[in-house]
Amino acid sequence: MALLELAGTTVRYGQRTALDSVDLSVAEREIVCVLGPSGSGKSTLLRAVAGLTPVAGGAVRLAGRDQAGVPAHRRGVGLMFQDHQLFPQRDVGGNIAFGLRVRGVPRREAERRVAELLDLVGLPGAQRRPVGSLSGGEQQRVALARALAPRPRLLMLDEPFGQLDRGLRERLLVELRQLFRSLGTTVLAVTHDQGEAFALADRMVVMREGRIAQAGSPLEVWRRPADEFVAGFLGFRNVAWATVAEGVADTPWGPVPLPGGEAAGRRLLLVRPSGVRTAGAGDGEDGGGEGAGGEGLWATVRARTFRGDHVLLLLAPESGPALEAACPAEAAPAEGRRVRVSFDPAEVVLLPGAQDAGPARIAAHPARPAATGRAGSPGSPEPAAGPADFGGAETVGNAEGTGKIPGPGAGRASGGAGRQAAG
Ligand code: ADP
Repeated sequence: MALLELAGTTVRYGQRTALDSVDLSVAEREIVCVLGPSGSGKSTLLRAVAGLTPVAGGAVRLAGRDQAGVPAHRRGVGLMFQDHQLFPQRDVGGNIAFGLRVRGVPRREAERRVAELLDLVGLPGAQRRPVGSLSGGEQQRVALARALAPRPRLLMLDEPFGQLDRGLRERLLVELRQLFRSLGTTVLAVTHDQGEAFALADRMVVMREGRIAQAGSPLEVWRRPADEFVAGFLGFRNVAWATVAEGVADTPWGPVPLPGGEAAGRRLLLVRPSGVRTAGAGDGEDGGGEGAGGEGLWATVRARTFRGDHVLLLLAPESGPALEAACPAEAAPAEGRRVRVSFDPAEVVLLPGAQDAGPARIAAHPARPAATGRAGSPGSPEPAAGPADFGGAETVGNAEGTGKIPGPGAGRASGGAGRQAAG
């Protein structure tokens, strides 16, 4: 049975609908991450489940029981918000043990549990430190330990790792997943960081304007974004309308081969950056090809961004909008080089949820997630290099992608090859 069920759950703040008839169920022991740009309703969803925000319509059920009228402290859910409010007059141990003491856990056992949790969150031996002496990140770790201490049946985390440095965040995510597994904790976590969601979640829920845009396993969502909004949010920018017939898509970049079995018609097509191949004029990969002609699509390398195990290229094709290509660092062509572009059908996806409203709508309203307020993140309000820069009319999406599932923090760490070239 589902531990948590939302059925048509709606929350309004005055005239504003922050949660719009959301249906969601979370199974026992499942880890679900709710992902979306700022203002999409993620925190409101948690607050509605916790009983901190009144529900205007629909139901919230925990273990099958409707929670209407059940106060927050009777719901048996643990909560950790980004603005974790620790008790300033208590030390670290006192903060973590608080929930255990009110539940009558014997002192010895509580102490053992506090020590375990402090080890887990990377603050071993910090029991007697005053919370006022902790950095923001350390306070966050204590807040996490405090939320975990009573072993709640549903643990809800709201942007729990926002202030932690990347190394600690990655370690914590791996450890937390193991810990949640071993405790059998059911988790509903909110983040705007896709890397965090990919690392933690059994299932991801992508929100847009108070509704669920897509729900699925991290791999499903990554492999097959439902529509241009989700694709853009994940950072894919090689998206264009195409006419599909007999295994080939006619796109602004020319013919793009498809994996096979696609229905004919007007469809929105995504090519992952790893599926955009570049080669020079001589047949060796990326051999240069200055001024060379020949068959296929030619493009100029506008920018290169080093990504550790690959280089992300921003290409200005001779026809069609800008393309991003991921290629091995040692084979990456230099800026200004002309390269021949080909497409790997295995990395081409037709977006299932996209409605064909024609190129005019897309050109006028690129599918751009609402602002997150963080430059360079998916959903950044800044326009990336796109149709306007390279004369294309049909791209959607606004951020960069790599063709690989990003690590934690990748959503924020993007440097913006598109913006470099646009500048
Ligand atoms: P997220 O967590 O995804 O950033 P929120 O759930 O905080 O989004 O907000 C969803 C929408 O509801 C936003 O438009 C936000 O401005 C609005 N909102 C959130 N809290 C309140 C509130 N207390 N009063 C009025 N509007 C609110």
